[in-house]
Amino acid sequence: MPSKPSRSASFITTPEQLAQALDIPVEPLRAVHAVYPLRVSRYYLDLIKQHGLPLWRQAVPDPQELTDAVGLVDPLDEENLSPVPCLVHKYPDRALLLVAGECAMYCRFCTRKRKVGTREMAIDDEAIAAGLAYLRRTPAISDVLISGGDPFMLPLARLERILKALRDIPSIATIRIGTRIPCTLPMRVTSRLAAMLKKYHPLYINTHFNHPAEITPEAALACTRLADAGIPLGCQTVLLRGVNDSAEIIRELLYGLLRIRVKPYYLFQADLTKGTAHFRTTVDCGLAIMRHLIGHVTGPAVPTYALDAPGGGGKIPLTPTYIHHLDEALEFTTYQGHPCSYPNRIDP
Ligand SMILES: *Cc1c(COP(=O)(O)O)cnc(C)c1O
Ligand code: SF4
Repeated sequence: MPSKPSRSASFITTPEQLAQALDIPVEPLRAVHAVYPLRVSRYYLDLIKQHGLPLWRQAVPDPQELTDAVGLVDPLDEENLSPVPCLVHKYPDRALLLVAGECAMYCRFCTRKRKVGTREMAIDDEAIAAGLAYLRRTPAISDVLISGGDPFMLPLARLERILKALRDIPSIATIRIGTRIPCTLPMRVTSRLAAMLKKYHPLYINTHFNHPAEITPEAALACTRLADAGIPLGCQTVLLRGVNDSAEIIRELLYGLLRIRVKPYYLFQADLTKGTAHFRTTVDCGLAIMRHLIGHVTGPAVPTYALDAPGGGGKIPLTPTYIHHLDEALEFTTYQGHPCSYPNRIDP
């Protein structure tokens, strides 16, 4: 990246630094850090200081990560769906290419908590070459999602080499990038990065905001740069206990996203990832939130609430039930709760 700030200036990576910055005991942080990596950008740390718990919970290691008795190490069975180490091929026409092992922040609820930010996730040229070779010999894949870790952590030239190599594969039509950097380190989305990305259309970006307090002027600038480069922006929010598990917070987040030109795409039910049980809500909680959204807020703000099936079954939409009976007539309830019906037949 241009004018790349030195790592120590941008990030907190040790329990000692974090304990000092937040004025909390270091021992619990050390215990968690012995098992899972720690990184918080100084930018996000400032947001935590301003807004407290909902942001704190996402970033600060919690001893509950070590006592989760129900979680699964690899909840989506990604390792078994990987024909080569850094590629997950779960759906017929699309694949996930993991290109980066690092993130600007290690979210405590991360689905790839088992490896993101660890040595196991070090992705070298050889691994990426194997992923590209698989894509070349699998022309049924027309949509490639590049993720990680966070692809925007890569040096600009390295990210561009990957995009160029993907564009040289004729069977690939669309490229999607998954990145949380517009939320966790937005200043890293420079004009130079946007100008580079623009050369690789059709390109889509899904970013990841979980709370309205994350929608700052800096985040707005990052998203404006990307949107002005013609990149459609989506958001994959995770429903998290103690962070955003209320209709009011989610509604404010969704409206805030539309204001910075991001179209809410998915609202995910939290995965069964080991070390994240304290973040999970019930599905009923998510369905109740969706009931408060559908019909009540502007259509483009409404994401698809989805659960990523344990064992690699793919994403399943979770929608409140409006239909009660379907026979000669469809009996249903309107978004305002009124009973209604529609004749279910073809008239002569
Ligand atoms: C989520 C996911 C995709 C993309 O799913 P969409 O519903 O098309 O956004 C592709 N591959 C894997 C492995 C995924 O987890
Ligand atoms: S940015 Fe994404 S991949 Fe990285 S730790 Fe957070 S949730 Fe996981």
